[in-house]
Amino acid sequence: MTSPTLSVRPMVIAHRGASGYLPEHTLAAKAMAHAMGADYIEQDVVLSRDGVPVILHDVYLESTTDVARRFPGRARADGRFYAMDFALDELRQLRVHERSSTGESGEELAVYPDRFPLGPALFGIPTLAEEIDLIAGLDRSRGCRTGLYVELKGPNLHLQAGMDIAEIVLRVLAEKGYGERPEQVFLQCFDGATLRRLRHEIKTPLPLIQLIGENSWGEDTTTDYDYLRSPEGLAEIAGYADGIGPWLNQIYLGKDHSGEVQLSNLVADARQHGLLVHPYTFRRDELPMGIDSFDELLDIFFRRAGVNGVFTDFPDLVAHYLQQSGAPGS
Ligand code: CA
Repeated sequence: MTSPTLSVRPMVIAHRGASGYLPEHTLAAKAMAHAMGADYIEQDVVLSRDGVPVILHDVYLESTTDVARRFPGRARADGRFYAMDFALDELRQLRVHERSSTGESGEELAVYPDRFPLGPALFGIPTLAEEIDLIAGLDRSRGCRTGLYVELKGPNLHLQAGMDIAEIVLRVLAEKGYGERPEQVFLQCFDGATLRRLRHEIKTPLPLIQLIGENSWGEDTTTDYDYLRSPEGLAEIAGYADGIGPWLNQIYLGKDHSGEVQLSNLVADARQHGLLVHPYTFRRDELPMGIDSFDELLDIFFRRAGVNGVFTDFPDLVAHYLQQSGAPGS
């Protein structure tokens, strides 16, 4: 059953900014997401060696920066360049580009070939404080209020390096006046223990989102995602978090032989426990199996599954979809 209009307008969360159009987590991508009307803009946060929170999706630098050329010899034994091994003034020297991977003969390949070209070296790594200044400044000049959706990356890896990323990020949020704005800031993490600490020990008033991956991905956590997706796991999450951020393929399972959409019970089970559901990642250029268009994908998630918001690389397309749907507040 599909309903003609959506009763509550779901949230548009700009995943790493308007990253479908500009290199992820650059201030340019964040400004563009702001202009496109995103309700929330996402910040993935890692720490520099000197403990400054910077905006970067990976705890590594090589997939989105020129670190291997600028600092050859600074990789660890696993061949990777860890952001936490570089001081802020070193990170400032790096140029950010579209996400790339290394091809079979060592060449650099764009992960999303139709996006912004790999070549131009126009962008740097922002700090969390700088990004908040940008968003708050645009809120003022454009007369609106945009939310922050902050992910704590690799909390255990940071702890091993003697740095408490949860405390440090909360300090910056407090300094910028966002520490007590539960209506405007979400905190998200793959690590359940970190979220429990935020709720029960640190007692942040900010809403918390438990990200749910697949156990096979090897996230920096001992969290068991198969368990978290079960009714018992969701009941447990409801004891420390306000919602879940599942992978979209944990909700949309594909289509059967007659073309009927197959959904898991995850959204319904989460709702039973009063949990918000914000799945990731909605990409026009990476549609799940059996899906023909971005609008079809959005129809399935907003009208059939009934999620509360989506992380998307294309915030303009999701905002436009919601506007066409006549969702209130759009
Ligand atoms: Ca993220």
